[in-house]
Amino acid sequence: MYADIIVDITHEKLDKIFQYRIPSHLEGMLTIGTEVVVPFGRGNKETRGYVIGFSEKADYDPAKMKEITGLAEGGMAIEAKLVALAGWMKETYGGTMIQALKTVLPIKKQERKKQKRTVHLLLSEEEGRERLEMYLHKNQKARARVLAGLLDQPAQDYEFLTKKLHVSAAVLRTMEEQGVLKVRVRQMYRTPLPASARKTEKVALTPEQTKAVEAFWQDYRQEKYGTYLVYGVTGSGKTEVYMEMISRVLEQGRQAIMLIPEIALTYQTVLRFYGRFGDRVSILHSRMSQGERSDQMERVKAGEVDVMIGPRSALFTPFSNLGLIVIDEEHEGTYKSEQAPRYHARETAIRRARMEGASVVLGSATPSLETFYACRSGRCRMLQLTNRTGGGELPQVLVADMREELRKGNRSILSGRLEEMIRDRLEKKEQIMLFLNRRGYAGFVSCRACGYVVKCPHCDVSLSAHRNGRLVCHYCGYEEPAIQTCPSCGSSYIGGFKAGTQQVEEMIHKRFPEARVLRMDLDTTRKKDGYEKILETFSDEEADILIGTQMIVKGHDFPNVTLVGILAADLSLYSDDYRSAERTFQLLTQAAGRAGRGGRSGEVVIQTYSPDHYAVRMAASQNYEGFYEEEMRYRSLMGYPPASHLLAVLMTGADEEGLMKAAGYLKEFLHKIDPRGRIQVIGPASPYVGKVSDVYRRVLYLKEEEEAILIEAKNRMEQYIEANRGFEPFRIQFDLDPMGV
Ligand code: ADP
Ligand code: ZN
Ligand code: ZN
Repeated sequence: MYADIIVDITHEKLDKIFQYRIPSHLEGMLTIGTEVVVPFGRGNKETRGYVIGFSEKADYDPAKMKEITGLAEGGMAIEAKLVALAGWMKETYGGTMIQALKTVLPIKKQERKKQKRTVHLLLSEEEGRERLEMYLHKNQKARARVLAGLLDQPAQDYEFLTKKLHVSAAVLRTMEEQGVLKVRVRQMYRTPLPASARKTEKVALTPEQTKAVEAFWQDYRQEKYGTYLVYGVTGSGKTEVYMEMISRVLEQGRQAIMLIPEIALTYQTVLRFYGRFGDRVSILHSRMSQGERSDQMERVKAGEVDVMIGPRSALFTPFSNLGLIVIDEEHEGTYKSEQAPRYHARETAIRRARMEGASVVLGSATPSLETFYACRSGRCRMLQLTNRTGGGELPQVLVADMREELRKGNRSILSGRLEEMIRDRLEKKEQIMLFLNRRGYAGFVSCRACGYVVKCPHCDVSLSAHRNGRLVCHYCGYEEPAIQTCPSCGSSYIGGFKAGTQQVEEMIHKRFPEARVLRMDLDTTRKKDGYEKILETFSDEEADILIGTQMIVKGHDFPNVTLVGILAADLSLYSDDYRSAERTFQLLTQAAGRAGRGGRSGEVVIQTYSPDHYAVRMAASQNYEGFYEEEMRYRSLMGYPPASHLLAVLMTGADEEGLMKAAGYLKEFLHKIDPRGRIQVIGPASPYVGKVSDVYRRVLYLKEEEEAILIEAKNRMEQYIEANRGFEPFRIQFDLDPMGV
């Protein structure tokens, strides 16, 4: 038997399988996924690698074949299934096998247990002073420094003394022997779970919730595993439904993974799960140290955990008998990885579930087009919740036409209507949330008099103003010169759209000097806990107005908020990618859902220059299906996902000319392998950030209805890039069905 091994070196040329002999001392000890050390390269450098298979036959002369050195220290066998999943991810999303393996492997790095050491003074003050005199007399400066510090403050941090006061460990030991002080060691436990969690009783499900759970369970108990969508507005009781499903799966002796976007992974959410499932629950989040993560994975492998809650990466929890994966807020963009392999957690979860005989439950009030499309085509079963459990009414939504405001001579960011309503709420001592739904740079050019937006005639997405003023399409590279007057109405109120949270805050301060205002954006949340603190202050009603960007937080209820203002719906509507209408609809719907949660009726004002755009109209009337129909028409017409599939080929490098040439070669190659032009090739275009610190970026887009054909084209391109000269100076990555540009 020979072992097939993938070595831990990220390099396209080495992304292949190497055969090694198995030494007798390792016989029977290797399984698929075992991490080993092997001699590699000309110098036989010790290199880590993973066993991904075994073969009876040697690919070449066994006498020349190298032998595995041994097991990697701290290495562990991972589930063969996870290795297979990594293989599928590499195949589907591109990248190297080692990148895929590193994505799915449990984090193994064992960090030393953190200890907190403190130094305590054992002497009385009088004894201490005497001893200090003695140290000074004998010129024992270090000891004197420590003692003087302890007389000032009788307990001191060990690290502080040794690192900051430069006292050696030996000095402290001597002083301990002399009975002057004592070093106390306290273990810091790395469990992130709250100790205060109480067992919560499960609520009696409503008939609607019961129906959803039973529909799932009917299939599950017959071992019919599939994909489900729990479709219901915020507050309709989706989380209760997930918990009931999870609890039934656990009763079968199986385990569950619950994915939640990081931003929604609040303390309250965790407490709810903890209250229901006790310490069989574990959490992952990005602020945890490697050691903390690794501890949780150890607990999983020891069988101490049945439910893992976390963001995207929790999907790869090494459960041995996984029965259910839940993905809450499945439409969120954060489920798509931004590093190779650029996998989507939803598709990957469906894959993992199919491999392991498990089900997937997706949940959202505003499902992704992909998921709703899957429901329509029978690949996903819809479980609908139509009522809010508290019976709370949906807010009333008004659309403020900002073109009208301009006609009336109002050039401020606030419409007359919204200003009036803010004044009213301040008087009533009710709270207000103002959203500026921007995401990164908004480069589009629009007319404030008529709402006209400059778009690409080929791609039907907004053109972006580049620094040189020219208007550029980020998909196909189409360009137009800068314009001074609106081609539609002739007005000169045409230009870029500028608005920042800081400006909004200043303006609000001027208009409503008496109002207590909080601002939440990247600036004010940068500090640790900044985010939680702002929410807490607002929740305690210590502020009247909260201004912010992406604050649509699940798990935070502000019952006193009766007015939500969306200041510029156009900001996300005309961002330059094909998902901008979908993202806007989601943002508007979710923002609107923040108003009137406490049984009081709420109102929402959407300010826009495009009141007739279907994303705005459908959000205002809370009509998801109406939006879906319109948006699918656009996607089908233009060949965007999910009507079709899109593959981005991201190329970066320092040599701009060479980069264009390489893109040209790839285009030519694609033409050769697809002579009838089934695959539509667009670009190369330069994204808005076309050049970052002297590295140029170019993107080719490939459109094709059948995913398999695009994946095949990707594989052929990967082989072509590897086999031919000229591509070495560039980094070339693939992104299947990208979330944006
Ligand atoms: P979603 O996840 O759809 O936002 P939740 O499951 O968080 O909804 O439910 C919203 C609120 O309603 C929560 O406070 C929850 O405890 C409560 N709730 C949900 N289902 C029920 C029920 N069957 N009976 C009583 N309260 C419920
Ligand atoms: Zn105009
Ligand atoms: Zn275009």
